[in-house]
Amino acid sequence: MSIGLYIHVPFCIKKCLYCDFTSYLLDNEAVRNYLVFLIKEINLYGSSLADEDKIITSIFFGGGTPTTLLVPSFKMILTAVRSSFLVSPGCEITVEANPGTINGAGLTGLRELGVNRLSIGVQSFQDRLLQVLGRTHSGDQAIEAVQLARKAGFDNLNLDFIFGIPGQTNYDWRETLQQAVEIAPEHIAAYGLQLEEGTPLEQTVRRGAISSCPEEMEAEMYQDAIVFLTTQGYNHYEISNFAQPGRECAHNLIYWLNRPYLGLGPAAHSLIKGVRFANDISLDGYCDHLSRKEYPIGHSTHITPADEMSETMFLGLRLTAGVDLNQFYQRFGRRAEEVYGSAIADLDGKGLLEISRGRLHLTAKGLPLANVVFREFI
Ligand code: SF4
Repeated sequence: MSIGLYIHVPFCIKKCLYCDFTSYLLDNEAVRNYLVFLIKEINLYGSSLADEDKIITSIFFGGGTPTTLLVPSFKMILTAVRSSFLVSPGCEITVEANPGTINGAGLTGLRELGVNRLSIGVQSFQDRLLQVLGRTHSGDQAIEAVQLARKAGFDNLNLDFIFGIPGQTNYDWRETLQQAVEIAPEHIAAYGLQLEEGTPLEQTVRRGAISSCPEEMEAEMYQDAIVFLTTQGYNHYEISNFAQPGRECAHNLIYWLNRPYLGLGPAAHSLIKGVRFANDISLDGYCDHLSRKEYPIGHSTHITPADEMSETMFLGLRLTAGVDLNQFYQRFGRRAEEVYGSAIADLDGKGLLEISRGRLHLTAKGLPLANVVFREFI
């Protein structure tokens, strides 16, 4: 069965104030060392996976900030991937990029290596909000990043945005959305800010130095994004994701359809042959495992058929098209309406879920309450 390949690049120029991802400050020596072990990990899976599990339909470089790597580093990684795995023709290859870490020559280099999708972390066009988030770039640099990407030949761009930032008004958010559609990316991701415990931004809010965005205001911003982006021709295909027709992210669809994927690098997660596993979250721990020729796995869980059904439901319900009930039956030999009959009836009664044209999906009322719905399938 084909898989998606995720490659984690755990380096950033500076830690953003809201970030709890696994990332380290950029250090050339650490990058060189990391690449040695990443290639070892690629080779390890290349020599152990069966051929049918090595067919790659999407590659996603995430981070961290992948564009802290230079083009020769991407070349080294992609060469190792292509010699260890079977990369399908037309494979979607995405690189996450931050404004201020890219230039024309670097982007042209990525295109020449076969990278065909760029995901730019814009977050906001308002500089004062970027400062609240501790981002290293300005709104103008984000616009320049898009222009550079177009010039380098990227015709498939995602822009990431955050709403619910302390101090952000509804007007700010609408202005950012307006500017986003003027740039006309093929894909837009809009996430509500998560104030992760222990991050500097969360601590600042907890101290009362700034106020978090009120819940009702954040809910309005989410609704505004749905209404505005769909009227601008974007298909709202996943809770937080919007795409022009045919430009949905193939890699992320693998996650939402609960299909297999392999994650490489510290803290990367995988789902292969009924086992979910996650790599050691620390860079040192990850490298130590590989230096002993061991898989760098921190923990793993065997997925029972009941787990797999449950995951297929709550991941699939993230998609606005919902879960294809016939495909569910083909996959598990049981009908979702049987397995989850009372949950479906209850949520249907509350107007949060409905079945139409053979698919079970969230209603407009259910979308902002998705977590309440998902709990019923866990
Ligand atoms: S660029 Fe991304 S990964 Fe890096 S610190 Fe900021 S939010 Fe975290």
